[in-house]
Amino acid sequence: MARIAFIGLGHMGGGMAPNLAKAGHDVRAFDLSEEALAKAVEQGCLRAGSTEEAVEGAEVVITMLPAAQHVLGVYRDQVLGKAPTSALLIDCSTIDVASARTVEEEAAAKGYTMVDAPVSGGIAAAAGGTLTFMVGGSDEAFAKAEPILDPMAKAVIHAGGPGAGQAAKICNNMILGATMIVTCEGFVLAQKLGLDPQVFFDIASKASGQSWSMTSYAPVPGVGPETPADHDYEGGFAAALMLKDLKLAMQAAQEAGAYTPIGGEAEELFQRFVDRGGGNKDFSGIIKMIDDSWKV
Ligand code: NAD
Repeated sequence: MARIAFIGLGHMGGGMAPNLAKAGHDVRAFDLSEEALAKAVEQGCLRAGSTEEAVEGAEVVITMLPAAQHVLGVYRDQVLGKAPTSALLIDCSTIDVASARTVEEEAAAKGYTMVDAPVSGGIAAAAGGTLTFMVGGSDEAFAKAEPILDPMAKAVIHAGGPGAGQAAKICNNMILGATMIVTCEGFVLAQKLGLDPQVFFDIASKASGQSWSMTSYAPVPGVGPETPADHDYEGGFAAALMLKDLKLAMQAAQEAGAYTPIGGEAEELFQRFVDRGGGNKDFSGIIKMIDDSWKV
């Protein structure tokens, strides 16, 4: 069992770190929020007074932080040079590909092995240990990271070299954001054409219009498996986080010279939904805005 420093115990990290402790690891946890830290300690993690204290003597360092500036700041100021150089560094936050590669290069220059390992699956999957990890790093780094991530995972997939995990994550979420919007449009149009939503679901979920957004996450209440639509779009995956991921995807597309017009349109629509106050709603709640705008 390994000595693991876990930094960032929010919605996601707060579920993930206890699963490592339950698997028998010695998990030294830290978060700027005392409340988040106390919850992790209640669930079997050990309290550290700072990131520096958590990483001292660590064999593995895991971070689950909001955005790139937090990741760059924490690694530059509190991890690199403070954790033993033998420690494996795993960043699970969703950040842009360029920042992921920068921090991995800076870590490598100081003798560390590092991977980016963003996740798919929300808060329930974090707590339940059923996340999908997309890992970017060398074969050797992946071989070390896989057994550590396993107690938190449904699947751990090697995406490629440094930054490849982040690349896979933002491309996946660009598809998800766009398919959700067009699935909402399909339901709204079907209804206006006089189709019953359940009948349309029965057809489209078995026909070529099916996707995860249709089959597993239908944006209409009472249709398909239970989803946030059945709870007035509470819980699930916040629209503000979908917008964050779409912005990362569009930034990457611009840098890479990729033509992604539908991804760009999805970013604009989610921006409008967030501006109208939908940021904390599940991202499938965008159907309300689509329906409203059609009524104007
Ligand atoms: P969150 O804001 O709930 O948690 C982040 C935690 O990091 C907070 O508790 C905060 O106090 C802590 N933190 C910030 N700066 C710190 C520092 N310098 N030192 C120590 N702790 C610090 O965010 P979250 O929902 O847990 O998401 C974390 C990451 O996972 C994000 O990058 C997000 O995009 C990604 N993600 C989230 C979801 C989701 O459904 N919430 C799903 C997939 C991926």
